[in-house]
Amino acid sequence: MATLELDSITKTFQDGDEEIVAVDDVSMSIDDGEFLVVVGPSGCGKSTTLRMIAGLETITAGTLSIDDRVVNDVKSQNRNIAMVFQSYALYPHMSVRQNMSFGLEESTDLPDDEINQMVSETGEMLGISELLDRKPTDLSGGQQQRVALGRAIVRDPEVFLMDEPLSNLDAKLRAEMRTELQRLQNNLGVTTVYVTHDQTEAMTMGDRIAILDAGELQQVATPLECYHEPANQFVASFLGEPSMNFFDVTLEGDRLVADVFEYPIDEDVRSDLGDVTDLVLGIRPEAVELVDEAGDHEFETTVDVVEPMGDENTVYLHFDPDADPEHAEALVATIDGFNRVSEGNTVTARIPEDAVHLFDRATGEALHNRSMEDAAEQIDL
Ligand code: ATP
Repeated sequence: MATLELDSITKTFQDGDEEIVAVDDVSMSIDDGEFLVVVGPSGCGKSTTLRMIAGLETITAGTLSIDDRVVNDVKSQNRNIAMVFQSYALYPHMSVRQNMSFGLEESTDLPDDEINQMVSETGEMLGISELLDRKPTDLSGGQQQRVALGRAIVRDPEVFLMDEPLSNLDAKLRAEMRTELQRLQNNLGVTTVYVTHDQTEAMTMGDRIAILDAGELQQVATPLECYHEPANQFVASFLGEPSMNFFDVTLEGDRLVADVFEYPIDEDVRSDLGDVTDLVLGIRPEAVELVDEAGDHEFETTVDVVEPMGDENTVYLHFDPDADPEHAEALVATIDGFNRVSEGNTVTARIPEDAVHLFDRATGEALHNRSMEDAAEQIDL
């Protein structure tokens, strides 16, 4: 087991005359035994970061240390890491047992019977004992993924690196494997860096998540911290489905003035904003309430579309009843599935002040977030 330290890691690629900065000055520390999920949109530099840790890609600048040893120039096979890819990369002509033992045979002097024993134990742990003599082509996608995992586990590495390992599985199997992988990682206690673009995996699997955008690290924190206390508007918009609502607002005295509403704020909130007056107000759909009473933080809206999800309804509202819904300022609310509202209804939507986020419109930086404690209280944690 090991710690990982990325210190100002940068990776550039040369594409003709153009220099592509794939990873830009990324620094983070990953604890011994930690499960870190690296997440972000396509092309943000996730795989390149992982490949540099693996030693499959050279590091342009910065230092990478495993257990306090700088490994920039250490070959991949000498880093004691094991990788699991999206494309399971199993050898089709070898049996499952051979696939799992191959790495150990190549890299160690262990006797055959010891290797066999290790493969059998790992097979048992993953529930694939009865598949050990089959060829990968005779296995389902989920079984192949287990074999790929088994091949990594049997090597007893200090670090697991996983690049979208569940992407090829159907939704149900993916959910099952998500839980299983977490349990395995927990039991084995091996430091793990896991790349995904799937925010459900990011929110549910990691001890912490690292969010990248355009090669730059946006935030590293626990999933709940990133969700409730995002460092900036990018993180706020990336996590959460439906996405956080955003409104451009201007601070005038103690009011936030938007195109379609005015929103008074408390001195506590005001004091977080400093001199910044051009802001973006953010509110998560589940924080919006449909209420009966009117007030300063309540607004009359028209229901545009209702999407019943069973346990909850996603309600698309707009502020101006006369505006063309496609162009009207919209507000998305997630409400109880039994709450019956229909298209065209007029409803009062509350944007509770203790749940709003405020971002500097010029930089995206979060100036005021809802507090984790308040959020936990409201959702009864
Ligand atoms: P995805 O989720 O789509 O796999 P990613 O976040 O893993 O994306 P990377 O594969 O790390 O992103 O790529 C980051 C950037 O670096 C992209 O702009 C990509 O085009 C570029 N890039 C990656 N590998 C190379 C390469 N070998 N040569 C040139 N550019 C590259």
